Amino acid sequence: MSVRPLSAVLLSCLSLAAWAETPHWAYEGAHGAAHWAEIDKSYSECKLGHAQSPIDIRTAKVDKNAPALEFAYQPKPLALVNNGHTVQVNEAGAGTLTIGGHVYQLAQFHFHTPSEERIKGKPYDLVAHFVHKDEAGKLAVVAVLFKVGKENTALKPVLDNMPIAAGPEHSVAGVSVNPADLLPARLGYYHFMGSLTTPPCSEGVSWYVLTTPVELSRAQLAEFRTLYQHNARPVQPLNGREVTERL
Ligand SMILES: [Zn+2]
Repeated sequence: MSVRPLSAVLLSCLSLAAWAETPHWAYEGAHGAAHWAEIDKSYSECKLGHAQSPIDIRTAKVDKNAPALEFAYQPKPLALVNNGHTVQVNEAGAGTLTIGGHVYQLAQFHFHTPSEERIKGKPYDLVAHFVHKDEAGKLAVVAVLFKVGKENTALKPVLDNMPIAAGPEHSVAGVSVNPADLLPARLGYYHFMGSLTTPPCSEGVSWYVLTTPVELSRAQLAEFRTLYQHNARPVQPLNGREVTERL
């Protein structure tokens, strides 16, 4: 059980309240994941939904016809937001993901620790969620799993510039990041239909969890955890959903 100093919790809630309009939710305690649906009517899908994320991927059916993930990302000046739940890198204009001819724009990526996704019951140390949106507003999220190992140089500028307190977007002068540098070399994936893993837990999200993890150093993981020690929603029931795999 991790405990943040009360003063830090109060500070983050106060600074969040100063600019955010969404009702307060958290990962632990009275506003934790088990209670999200009670916090606001618009969060009811968190409890009533039948295709929620994250999930524990225990079995997957290999799909020889599954389309490749075609990333066309480019470097963009670093713009970060600490939204009180995670650190998010805003990526409007940083490129596209094309899946079977369907084009999505990259909107942002953000982190959870430990990974929300479990593979055969086991979480990874960290996950990055790359959130993409198509013209109709449909979401495709690519999850990149991280395990402790070598230092990740692509992650360094993000970790070095994380805003300590929740607040509006913070642009970092003179620093560019190419989100492509955070992807593993192999792009095999698990695919399933799910939801946002934070309130309002909206469904209809196409999930692609890359099967090849990348690495970050223990010090880098600790650096992220100075802001967020645990920001992962528990796994949700599959309810008959099938997970497919592209090798
Ligand atoms: Zn996420």
